[in-house]
Amino acid sequence: MDAVYQALVKIVGEDYASNRPEELFTYSKDLGTSEPKFPDYVAAPKTAEEVQKIILLANKKKVPVVPLGGGMSLAGLALPLQGGIALDLKRMDQIIELNEKARYVVVEAGISNGKLTAYLHKHYPHLMHSEPGAPPAATIGGNIAIHGQGDMAHPYGFNSDMVNGMEVVLPTGEICKFGSCSIGSGWYTLHPLPDIGLFLGWNGSTGIITKISLRLFPCKKIREMDLFVVEDEGLIPDLLYELTHVGMAEDLIAFTSAIPPFMDGVHHISMNITGDTEEEMEFKRHLLLDGKLARYIQDGTGGIGAVSQDIQRPQISKSADWKKGGGFEYVGSIMPVTAYPECYRRGAEISTRHNIPYTVLGRVIGSAHAMMFSWSYAFNRADPETVRHAREALHETDSLVLELGGTIWKPAVFGQKLMMDRMDSNTLQMMKKVKNLLDPNGIMNPGNWEVNE
Ligand SMILES: Cc1cc2nc3c(=O)[nH]c(=O)nc-3n(C[C@H](O)[C@H](O)[C@H](O)COP(=O)(O)OP(=O)(O)OC[C@H]3O[C@@H](n4cnc5c(N)ncnc54)[C@H](O)[C@@H]3O)c2cc1C
Repeated sequence: MDAVYQALVKIVGEDYASNRPEELFTYSKDLGTSEPKFPDYVAAPKTAEEVQKIILLANKKKVPVVPLGGGMSLAGLALPLQGGIALDLKRMDQIIELNEKARYVVVEAGISNGKLTAYLHKHYPHLMHSEPGAPPAATIGGNIAIHGQGDMAHPYGFNSDMVNGMEVVLPTGEICKFGSCSIGSGWYTLHPLPDIGLFLGWNGSTGIITKISLRLFPCKKIREMDLFVVEDEGLIPDLLYELTHVGMAEDLIAFTSAIPPFMDGVHHISMNITGDTEEEMEFKRHLLLDGKLARYIQDGTGGIGAVSQDIQRPQISKSADWKKGGGFEYVGSIMPVTAYPECYRRGAEISTRHNIPYTVLGRVIGSAHAMMFSWSYAFNRADPETVRHAREALHETDSLVLELGGTIWKPAVFGQKLMMDRMDSNTLQMMKKVKNLLDPNGIMNPGNWEVNE
């Protein structure tokens, strides 16, 4: 029997290690267009100490380790590009501490968004975390490792900005804490200690996050979603600027899609308005709808599309199965909100060229400091021609992001290379030094953010 497999069994137990082809197969794919990449082993640890032992083993045997949360980030980010151990973190899903008055929760990194939301809903219904529109199986660790954003992005920013502290197993096996928890003062802040931003945005290539303290926010009792519509995409940046000035919405998203046909070219802005009383709701509605949007209604350039009351969380984004066969992948980008009109027009052109109905959206981050703009491409998994078109459209869109002055969010290796080709050479060298220092054997998710020059 293979020595690495035997060692993994010793660490996590026979039920949680495998080298059987049928199990490796399930870890060789994600939901997107990436080619399958097979791991040699799968291990599902339960504790940071087990992660540590696996990392020490991997260093000794020079075997890659690829952390995996929900595997929902698409773009092949958790696929073992060079084989090795697929480290499935989903068993590390405990809620360790919740401090109600200081509004934070300490969780193991493999906990799913769905589990945390259900727990808060049951035990602390007046608290919420910023939940991404991803399927509920997506993990908190995986989401912050790629700088995700959720339904509190406006007004509070990226989910990775909502981290109060972390425990990380370094690529050489040490278990380190960051933030106030590192000096034994509780898990309530990442500041004001020296900044060690080494683990967010690196796709697990600098360490395995095992615990996270996450900020929680007030969860109001009443929740409605109002839709405002305009036909001129050129109005969207001004609208977002004005709506963020009053800061009354929790989530602000501008979107349009080619299907259904009545949506084609009609730009919707969804605004989540929440309150504990009808008076609070009325006040917020008044500021947004009567104050900021009335002008557009009066001059005939915009109108209220719909008001949906009693909406539930999580609001999972659903991209329709336009091509049948269940495939979709998107390019996400972090863009200035002023780029919305061009992002839409140029994206629609790419979609038309590849015969894929377009679906685009821009989620506001902060007070319109940026938006996450995405272009989704549907494909039929059983039809290689549609997969090829989607893949080409994704690559063209990566280039478009840079052409329009944006940055590619959670880039696949192709997009990482595009950005590193343009990156300031001192920054690149700094990344290389950091990586070599932390991971001398190059075992952590190799192929990701790899500086080759
Ligand atoms: C329909 C749909 C809608 C989506 N909507 C959103 C959205 O609104 N907002 C949003 O942010 N995202 C969204 N996503 C993208 C993605 O699903 C989420 O960001 C998700 O939270 C990623 O978490 P995961 O556990 O699936 O990560 P994974 O895909 O498992 O991992 C992501 C990356 O992080 C690494 N990693 C995972 N866990 C760790 C860890 N503990 N330590 C170190 N590295 C780690 C992996 O190696 C990989 O490189 C959406 C996806 C889909 C399919």
